[in-house]
Amino acid sequence: MQKVGLRYATFTGRIICKTGLRIGGSKEELEIGGMDNPIIRDPLSKLPYIPGSSLKGKLRSLLEYKHNRVGLHWDKGQLIQKGGSPCGCGQDECPVCRIFGAHKNMAHNLGPSRLIVRDALLSDKSKKELEPLREGGLEYAEVKTENIINRDKNTAEHPRPMERVPQGTEFDLNLSLRILNGDNEPKMKEYINEAINLIQKDYLGGSGTRGYGWVQIEGDWD
Ligand SMILES: [Zn+2]
Repeated sequence: MQKVGLRYATFTGRIICKTGLRIGGSKEELEIGGMDNPIIRDPLSKLPYIPGSSLKGKLRSLLEYKHNRVGLHWDKGQLIQKGGSPCGCGQDECPVCRIFGAHKNMAHNLGPSRLIVRDALLSDKSKKELEPLREGGLEYAEVKTENIINRDKNTAEHPRPMERVPQGTEFDLNLSLRILNGDNEPKMKEYINEAINLIQKDYLGGSGTRGYGWVQIEGDWD
């Protein structure tokens, strides 16, 4: 099939943090006297953001679990399901490979990955709301201390300060979907909408099973 006639559909919306959200930053960016567990920020503006790669990875992995595509790949001419890697089946009917790309599969005939997930930047509203935290030296975030309960003594030990953006923070969401001739546009959008719904039942970022990263996602296709 010839993959010509490129068009784009855009999903515009926002990600609203119903609980504090933590997407870890790299320690290399640490300043002396800074946090041990910083969140990811724009290096110049210091504004927190949600990397497109984190968001795309989460959308993809939830869709793979839902449709039983985790670990699918070709081995000696056989399609097998083993391990925890992303789907690399490259099959026409796969809900994941066409939209997100066939993992480590160079032989498929699906054309380029269709979905482009932009970095989700802090909304103007949240920028204003979190400005007072910046003046307190926190740079648009809060610090939450996590403990481990000692099972013998039933006491809290090893306090670890974790940085996160507070509940109520909003990020602007932008997804761009490439549509080539022969693509089933409604079906692709349906899968992406499904993945967005799954994130809202799951979580974004780290420590989700402990309450972090519960988000609401609003928006629609143009
Ligand atoms: Zn696949």
